[in-house]
Amino acid sequence: MTQTVQDLSIDEASSHQLTAADRCDSCGAQAYIRATMASGELYFCAHHGAEFKDKLAATAIEWHDESSRLHESK
Ligand SMILES: [Zn+2]
Repeated sequence: MTQTVQDLSIDEASSHQLTAADRCDSCGAQAYIRATMASGELYFCAHHGAEFKDKLAATAIEWHDESSRLHESK
């Protein structure tokens, strides 16, 4: 009788997707990476996300990376 409710987490994840309105904090390009820090959220393009990941990922609460979407553009 138990049904999983894991579909809910999918809805929640999609609502957190980055959009074209999200901009890299370093260069202003479209952001594909969101780092949730204790002090707030940071946005990075794929280039700066890769650059800052080494420094920030260790202390980030969440590292949300959508840079793979760059490769599926048509
Ligand atoms: Zn950038």
